[in-house]
Amino acid sequence: MKITALETLQLGEFPNILFVQLYTDSGLIGLGETFFGAPEVATYLHETASSTLLGRDAGQIDALRLALKRYVGTKGTGVECRGNSALDIALWDLLGQATGLPVYALLGGASRDAVRVYNTCAGYRYVRSTTGQSRENWGVADPATGGADTAASGPYEDLEAWLHGDAGELAHGLLAQSITGMKMWPVDEYAYATNGTNITAAQLNAGLEPFRRVRRAVGDAMDLMVELHGLWNLPTALKIARAFESEGINPYWIEDPLRPDDIASLARFAQGTTIPTTASELLGGRQGFRELLEARAASIVMLDLGWCGGISEGKAIAGMAEAFGLPSGLTNTN
Ligand SMILES: [Mg+2]
Repeated sequence: MKITALETLQLGEFPNILFVQLYTDSGLIGLGETFFGAPEVATYLHETASSTLLGRDAGQIDALRLALKRYVGTKGTGVECRGNSALDIALWDLLGQATGLPVYALLGGASRDAVRVYNTCAGYRYVRSTTGQSRENWGVADPATGGADTAASGPYEDLEAWLHGDAGELAHGLLAQSITGMKMWPVDEYAYATNGTNITAAQLNAGLEPFRRVRRAVGDAMDLMVELHGLWNLPTALKIARAFESEGINPYWIEDPLRPDDIASLARFAQGTTIPTTASELLGGRQGFRELLEARAASIVMLDLGWCGGISEGKAIAGMAEAFGLPSGLTNTN
């Protein structure tokens, strides 16, 4: 089954998502995807990666993973890694189609019958434009001042619900659907204001409010995740964590307090709070995660298959997490 062509697809409605289709001489077409910076990733795939892939056996997934390693672009979730993630997913899709087996069977079989999920409390306009992760791209800013398209809407506008409405009501609605975990990011706005270097007592108080509302509404029935999006420096991130500790919110985890390209500081954070630290979907490749694990910088290992290198890297990272006695989990909504 030789790879004969590579096609990239970018949809106008979701321009951040890049779909990749790998065509083969068998007639099968493998589908993969990644997120963020779609045009840059498409250029990498067409200009650089395709010459490595065309004519190769699509079933040699691990050999192709090694062949696609580039001289630059190490350890991060940069363009090369995101592009290679989409290719790896497409290759596994091809193998599944060619063998008539689900990919989980090819990876060793199902480990459990069901997987618990949590709700990332985003809305229809969340990170909808290609400007990346910013306050203007949450979908809550005025379009006249740079906000994303506000035309998109629907019945599950969860971002508005907790940011401007009542997070407690949202928690009731989620529990009614048997969703027992919810993630919110109420202090991002203050990070953008100071480049992550300071947060005031009043801002902390406002940031805690959605979490308090959930606890008041449903008690401990809802697990609560605090998402910090890697926006803070070490002392300020610890200040935020301590506010959640002293408030008795008892979060299920606190996610990406710092950018994980400073593993030593991330380890100091993780060891400086009683809240489990989740990190990091912002890392790419097994080498980056090995350093995270060796530094004991995470309590829960989070990865994104569309960013970390694909299914092949994801399985390797999950295996390492197990070896370090840690749980791992997937995300695809950052
Ligand atoms: Mg995240």
